Amino acid sequence: MDLIYRSTRDNKVSVTASKAILKGLAEDGGLFVPETVPALDRSMDELAGMSYRETAYEVMKLFLTDFTEDELKDCIAKAYDEKFDTEEIAPIKEADGAYYLELFHGATIAFKDMALSILPHLLITSAKKNQVKDEIVILTATSGDTGKAALAGFADVPGTKIVVFYPKNGVSPIQEKQMVTQKGDNTFVVGIKGNFDDAQTGVKKIFGDKALEAELAEAGFRFSSANSINIGRLVPQVVYYVYAYAKLYAAGKLAKDERLNVVVPTGNFGNILAAYYAKNMGVPIGKLICASNDNKVLYDFFATGTYDRNREFILTTSPSMDILISSNLERLIYRIAGADDAVDRELMENLSVSGKYAVTDEMKTQLTDFYGNYASEAETAAEIKEVYDKTGYVLDTHTAVASKVRRKYAAETGDGTKTMIASTASPYKFTRSVMNAIDIKYDSMSDFELVDELNRISGVAVPGAIEEIRTAPVLHDTVVEVDDMKDTVKKFLGI
Ligand SMILES: *Cc1c(COP(=O)(O)O)cnc(C)c1O
Repeated sequence: MDLIYRSTRDNKVSVTASKAILKGLAEDGGLFVPETVPALDRSMDELAGMSYRETAYEVMKLFLTDFTEDELKDCIAKAYDEKFDTEEIAPIKEADGAYYLELFHGATIAFKDMALSILPHLLITSAKKNQVKDEIVILTATSGDTGKAALAGFADVPGTKIVVFYPKNGVSPIQEKQMVTQKGDNTFVVGIKGNFDDAQTGVKKIFGDKALEAELAEAGFRFSSANSINIGRLVPQVVYYVYAYAKLYAAGKLAKDERLNVVVPTGNFGNILAAYYAKNMGVPIGKLICASNDNKVLYDFFATGTYDRNREFILTTSPSMDILISSNLERLIYRIAGADDAVDRELMENLSVSGKYAVTDEMKTQLTDFYGNYASEAETAAEIKEVYDKTGYVLDTHTAVASKVRRKYAAETGDGTKTMIASTASPYKFTRSVMNAIDIKYDSMSDFELVDELNRISGVAVPGAIEEIRTAPVLHDTVVEVDDMKDTVKKFLGI
């Protein structure tokens, strides 16, 4: 029996994993969720001896049940290869009493690579399985990291095109340079005059446009999404939590069944939801600690049960977390509503109309697995400096938010459970903010001088992704108004 995926907004929707991956978002605007979260069918002792690829297969086969073993293993082999600069794929570093799970060893040095290096293969396999002949057009809004990781994943993949929208003034210089230098005839990168939420809302609108969908079909195209709402991204992210726990256990850092708290620097709520799924699969994860920057919508939500996006959007030094609408939270809402699609629909309608919603007390009692807190800009910078001064280990700004929240959680609760921090980006991706945090004297240096200086003080080799863009020519310079996003897509497709 195949695992069935339902829409969070309509329980009558029932599709296989490959169909859910192809569609991205359900017709009704809901997100696809597995009817149940499957339990691991391997013991921790078995998992302890497995490679990343082997673990990926053991986890993903339980979610993507309509893929054959060969199909899945083929996708996994194509994704987790030399594109990663370490055989371990996701190594763990110990510093200042915490474990840092480094998820940034892929092509674009941010954790988005963990899922976006496999998504194109899952998507193409899904298309084949479902006799889809159309060319697949990936449409993505990015707060900086998804865009480049998706471009790298899809560039020159036959049968696909990819359009990426990013907030023109809302990403780091290195992030922007990485995107606008992207090669590949099937790639198109567009800056918008707005913030990430504008980009994401614009993309959702295009997805919901029935007339456009018909026009596209006529021309032999169909849209799909590489955003973290696609279960083809969520499922691969569950893998590294299983893998990391198993590696800590194998190394004797965790006793059998010992709990491990996990701190996740959070934006769209995809990464932490993956950790929640891993916990539900049977990994002995304790608290799921949700770390926000100054855009602390989620902190307020966990504290009060009210989600309220009506507030100023703050540009921070952790731009990939500058988000006021955390799309993946809807999957959790649906679940704590007891898989009640009517409740989910009502709350999401409230969000869309008034920018907020409140969960019931009954729903709130089911959030005890989670804890939310945030780090201000000053706290984030101080955290980078503190960890560097104590240990020589350099955190990026996003990881530093999580690292600070780890301390706040421990101070507030006295919980001494061992803790792993999801380390979501290489410090080389946010060099200026990182180096300024360590010493303000660095502010006078150019971006690439800072890269060399970071190399000197950390002893960590400059990643290939950074070396590449030192001299790469700009290939994309389109900037448009939010209202022109749809026409921009049509123009690129020639329809
Ligand atoms: C995307 C991103 C995040 C946020 O992850 P979500 O899954 O959207 O919550 C955090 N840090 C970095 C570096 C990212 O690129």
